[in-house]
Amino acid sequence: MKLQYQSIKRKIFNKKRFKKLGWIALIVTVCFLNVACDSITNNSEEKILLTVGIDPTFPPFEMREENNRIVGFDLDILRAIAEQEEIEITIDDRLAFNQLINALEQGEIDAIMSGMTITSKRAEKVEFSRPYFQTGLAITVRDEERKIQSTNDLKNKTIAVQIGTKGARKAENISGAKISQFSSIALALHELKNGNIDAVIHDFPAILYAIKIGNLDGLRIIEKLLTTEYYGIALPKDSEHIDRINDALEALIADRTYDDLYSQWFNSEPRPLPEIAPTLE
Ligand code: GLN
Repeated sequence: MKLQYQSIKRKIFNKKRFKKLGWIALIVTVCFLNVACDSITNNSEEKILLTVGIDPTFPPFEMREENNRIVGFDLDILRAIAEQEEIEITIDDRLAFNQLINALEQGEIDAIMSGMTITSKRAEKVEFSRPYFQTGLAITVRDEERKIQSTNDLKNKTIAVQIGTKGARKAENISGAKISQFSSIALALHELKNGNIDAVIHDFPAILYAIKIGNLDGLRIIEKLLTTEYYGIALPKDSEHIDRINDALEALIADRTYDDLYSQWFNSEPRPLPEIAPTLE
């Protein structure tokens, strides 16, 4: 009887110990899971700080107002991305367009949003986001110029471009062309108006807007959309932030924030954007 009593007691004692251990194990597991889950959520919501390089000579994507404020379509999209993805953005406007990729490679800036055309050559040095704009190059001449109707008529002419741009590359391939390089397209258009050069090659919307805000009458755009180009946001190669930027762009396109901003700046409906830009050299 006594023996039986003892063994029952031991059984009860063991059961209690087992229960206690079980509880401890459960608490430890719950704590561990909590920490693990916390760190996952924190990671995805972690605020990132990005210094974005912009050359504000590209209207209406980035341009300086009289009060020195930089405004434009790119700035509005950037602001929307920042809100969408909890990104704190600092704008760095000190660099010329042709210096931006080098600055990104050197780590002086964390991203570029400057109407930059996605090209395979640039993609060797930077990681591009999904395309956020579709457009192309155009040629501008003086109104009274009748001999230049297309790219073929540009042979042996003096063509003005902005340094380091896609327009500059296009001009380099025109045989016999003399190329004048400018730091901003507004300066090039003034030279064209003054009769010092024969034509300007640059992105169509930027030429259109620069003529409008610069009151540059007497100029005519020919060969609108000579090329099909897509703009992307450039990040360093293998950037850990590329997915967040792409997710934000996708969300802005899906909820029509993108369309609203597009029609505010361009008075028209945006063209559909592919997820990946077609290869362009
Ligand atoms: N889209 C052109 C390029 O990438 C021009 C950009 C610009 O002048 N900001 O070369």
